[in-house]
Amino acid sequence: MKIPLVDLKAQYRTIKSEVQNAIGAVLEDCTFISSKRVEEFEHGFAKYVGVKHGIAVSSGTAALEISLRSLKLERDDAVIVPAHTFIATAEAITLCGARPVFVDVDERTYNIDVNQVENILRNSVGKRVKAIIAVHLYGHPADMQALTALADRYGVILIEDAAQAHGAQVGGRSVGAFGKMACFSFFPGKNLGAYGDAGMIVTNDADLAALCKMLRNHGRIDKYEHAVTGTNARMDEIQAAVLNVKFKYLNQWNEARNRVAEIYTRKLVNAPVILPTVLPDHHHVYHLYVIKMKHRNAVLKFLNERGIGAGIHYPIPLHRQPAYVGQFKDLELPNTDRLVNEILSLPVFPEMTAEDIDYVVETLKEGLERWSE
Ligand SMILES: *Cc1c(COP(=O)(O)O)cnc(C)c1O
Repeated sequence: MKIPLVDLKAQYRTIKSEVQNAIGAVLEDCTFISSKRVEEFEHGFAKYVGVKHGIAVSSGTAALEISLRSLKLERDDAVIVPAHTFIATAEAITLCGARPVFVDVDERTYNIDVNQVENILRNSVGKRVKAIIAVHLYGHPADMQALTALADRYGVILIEDAAQAHGAQVGGRSVGAFGKMACFSFFPGKNLGAYGDAGMIVTNDADLAALCKMLRNHGRIDKYEHAVTGTNARMDEIQAAVLNVKFKYLNQWNEARNRVAEIYTRKLVNAPVILPTVLPDHHHVYHLYVIKMKHRNAVLKFLNERGIGAGIHYPIPLHRQPAYVGQFKDLELPNTDRLVNEILSLPVFPEMTAEDIDYVVETLKEGLERWSE
C-alpha cells in the first residue's frame, strides 16, 4: 500500500470537470493577469476570514515580503519570529532589510512561546522590535489573545503567517482576523491549494491594503506611472479560477481532515507517542498531524519503507540553518532544538479512506513496537 503525505491526484479527481471548465474559461477569455477572477477570489476570501481587504499575490512568500515592505521597516529594525517554522517566514524579514529575532516555541502547541516574546519586548532588543510574526503552525492557531495584548502594550505590529491554517479559528473568529495583516499561501499542498504558486495578504487597514496592491504590481498608479518601487508579485487568473472552484470545498475538506485526525487520536491514544494538543476554544485544521516519539528516525524510515509518506516539518530550525547560523551561533532554543529530533508528520488529507488510516496506524504501531525499549 502507498499512502502519500498529501494526495493531490485524489482531490483532483473529485473536482476535475469543474476545474477544467474554470481553466478553459480563462483560456477562452485570454485575460491572464489581474482580471475579474482574481478580484472575485480576493473578495470571497477576505469575507471568509472576516476582514475588509484581500490582496492576491503570487505566493505565500510574496505575501510575507510585501506585507513587511508595506510597514516600511528600516535597517536594523527587528522582527520577532518563531525558530520552528518554514524558512519563508524569516526570509521575508531578511529580504526587506530587517533582522529576525528567533524565539522558542511552546512544546505542546509548537507555536511561538508568548513568555519569550514578552521577555524580548521588555529588554533592550525590544526597543528595536517593530513587529511580531505569529505562525499558526500545522493548522493550530497561535495564542492570539496573548499576542494581540502584547502587541498593543508594547506598540508593535502583529502579523499572522496563516499559510498552514486556512479556516482555523479561535473563539469562533478566523485566523487572519487578529493581526494588523495576515498572510496566506495557496501552495498546492496547503489546505486550500492552487495549481501552481499563489498567496494572499488580508487586512482591515485601507492604507496598507492600497500600498500592498501597489507593491505587488510595480508600484503602479497608472500603466506607466509608478509611485513606489514595487515588484511583480501578482496572482494570475488561472490560479484564481482554480481557487474559486476549490474555495467552495475548503470547510468540507477541513472537516474531513478533522475526521482523519480524530481517528488517529482515538487509535493512538495508548501508543507511546505524544499526540497533537488542541487548546480549548481553538479550531485546528490539521494541515499536518504531528506526533512526537523516541527513536523518531528509525520509525520514520520504517514508515517510508512501507510506503507511507510520513515526514518531518521541519528538521532544521531556522537559527541552525546554514543561511542564518553565522549570525546565531550561540543561540539555544531548548524546546525547538529538542522537538526537531522527535516530531513526525503522518499523512493527512481529506480523501484518506478508513483503510488508509488503519494502515498508517497499524504500521506505526508495528514500528513503535520494534523500537521500544
Ligand atoms: C508554505 C508556507 C509559506 C510560504 O508559502 P509559499 O506559497 O510556498 O511561498 C510560508 N510560511 C509557512 C508557515 C508555510 O507553511
